[in-house]
Amino acid sequence: MMSRYAGRPWLKSRKALCPAYTPNSYESQPRELRLQWELLHRLNVNRTIARKVAEGYKFVSVERKSGSGRVDVWVQSPNGMTEKIEVKGSRQVKGSHLLQSICYHEKGDKVIVAAVDEIVEPEEWFIEPAKVMLDEIADFVERFPDEASRTYNPTPELCPSCSRTDCPHNKR
Ligand code: SF4
Repeated sequence: MMSRYAGRPWLKSRKALCPAYTPNSYESQPRELRLQWELLHRLNVNRTIARKVAEGYKFVSVERKSGSGRVDVWVQSPNGMTEKIEVKGSRQVKGSHLLQSICYHEKGDKVIVAAVDEIVEPEEWFIEPAKVMLDEIADFVERFPDEASRTYNPTPELCPSCSRTDCPHNKR
């Protein structure tokens, strides 16, 4: 059976931090806000490519399938190493962004998260255990949906965008 997270590493990474997390629908956000988020993301994709090319990297693709999803930017370093970059429109890199980038990691390549003011590369020692735990928690959420939906784990970066009004930690 295909995982419910296939193509949705962004949700897999958030559920790994709080299994009960359920995002507010994107369409419920004001149109002006969505437009600006989308523009910041798009600008940062192109800025990231421009910076990499200036550093001597070869541009390969945008939105290319990798691991269990599609990574924003794919480049190749001067020594031939594949680098996959998850690009964000937020100023800083969040924990869920770092976990999302790990969902794109494949043996022998490098993953990076590029936010507007910060670039973070998960270290080698962190990638493998994080991958295993992401998969184990995804399996838990899939096999035990009722228990998972009651597994509230307050996460400051997620709670403000969570729709679970029945959660005892939701202060809205
Ligand atoms: S409000 Fe926070 S703790 Fe509650 S389900 Fe959402 S993310 Fe989890």
